[in-house]
Amino acid sequence: LLRGAASLVKSTSLSSVLSSTTCQQKRYASHAENTNVFLKEALHQLEYPEKLQRLLLTPQREMAVELVMQMDNGEIEVFNAYRVQHNNSRGPYKGGLRYHPQVDIDDVRSLASLMTWKTAVMDIPFGGAKGGITVDPKKLSERELEKLTRKLVVAIKEIIGTYEDIPAPDMNTDGKVMAWFFDEYSKYKGFSPGVVTGKPVYLHGSLGREAATGRGTVFAIRELLKAMKLGRVQDHKYAIQGFGNVGAWAADILHEQGAKVTAVSDATGALHNDNGINIRALRQHMASGKTLATFSEATKFEKEQILTTPCDVLIPAAIGGVITEANAGKLDCKLVIEAANGPTTPEGDKILRERGITVLPDIYTNGGGVTVSFFEWVQNLQNFKWEEEDVNRKLDRKMTDAFQAIWDIHNERKIPLRTAAFVKALQRVTRAEIHRGFD
Ligand code: GLU
Repeated sequence: LLRGAASLVKSTSLSSVLSSTTCQQKRYASHAENTNVFLKEALHQLEYPEKLQRLLLTPQREMAVELVMQMDNGEIEVFNAYRVQHNNSRGPYKGGLRYHPQVDIDDVRSLASLMTWKTAVMDIPFGGAKGGITVDPKKLSERELEKLTRKLVVAIKEIIGTYEDIPAPDMNTDGKVMAWFFDEYSKYKGFSPGVVTGKPVYLHGSLGREAATGRGTVFAIRELLKAMKLGRVQDHKYAIQGFGNVGAWAADILHEQGAKVTAVSDATGALHNDNGINIRALRQHMASGKTLATFSEATKFEKEQILTTPCDVLIPAAIGGVITEANAGKLDCKLVIEAANGPTTPEGDKILRERGITVLPDIYTNGGGVTVSFFEWVQNLQNFKWEEEDVNRKLDRKMTDAFQAIWDIHNERKIPLRTAAFVKALQRVTRAEIHRGFD
């Protein structure tokens, strides 16, 4: 079917429909968007017609809003916020909300596109979207954070919904923010627990959701090591950039499985211990309000050096665009496991390929988060709560199956794992697009 996709589009009048839709959209300097560089590499493998390619590259809908808010001190501030809906051919739009000073429309577009390919790789019935507010939440009081979140809901409520577009946590947003989101949305649209995922367990959230991205990352590592005949998870030394939800849970689960996490970092600093950092103790230390950098059972080093620190497995689990032309040549690891979204630039990726460093791509590696978001959404629709073991077992199955699909394409086509993941995702999205039709 998919081999025939190109001719199907060519042989009908669909191409004219596609062309009129894409012409109405803004044209982007797509070379500036890293996601599209990788996507185009996979499109090259598939030889889809130009118009279909354009449809897959560009978002279906974008919303940019201004959130005007009175701060605690009485000052009026204006914040920019976005929701980009990239593709919904396989199901409702799905993706997180990021609160970060670097959030801009290009960033959100790129992240929304990644969600389309991620949900397709994981084979869950969602499309892709992303949203965010350009703000440093560390500079807001709790009250301001809540108010801003509620303002965001009011601004975007007409384009989201339980069967339309379902936000979730991302950088600097968590269960608490999702609870405010759910509450505010329900004021306008009636009780709607399924309108966001990543909610607190006691407020219609799912057991296992908080740890899901980190847990999924460890399942992904297990599968990659098995396929490459590199032994078990606990046979390797790990360095992790970022100790937020994703990095801390990945570290925790690696540690629990007996692996040595020899280096970790966050915005406050970096820690090293060649015998393995006691992750549980570090998390307890941080839970008491102290910073990562002040943990005494490890040696401190410059956080800028986390990516080049010697290890077997490097896990970027913070912001995007960190492995670049400037440092890719200096990485001292065998594997890069992309727990963050978009941590490697196309230039950085090229160098890693040349150096024979295997990269497990973000759209697969961190897909555990949105997968358990899907489980949460299903539980909300069912008004039922699954046991944590069920959630984790189903997550394991999803990560294992998705890995196999990518690995098979990687071997058949002799292409990098990233390109293979995009090929698989593109095939699934295109199949849905074409079978739904364009009329
Ligand atoms: N923000 C997460 C991601 O980038 C989770 C998205 C979701 O659960 O919808 O995958």
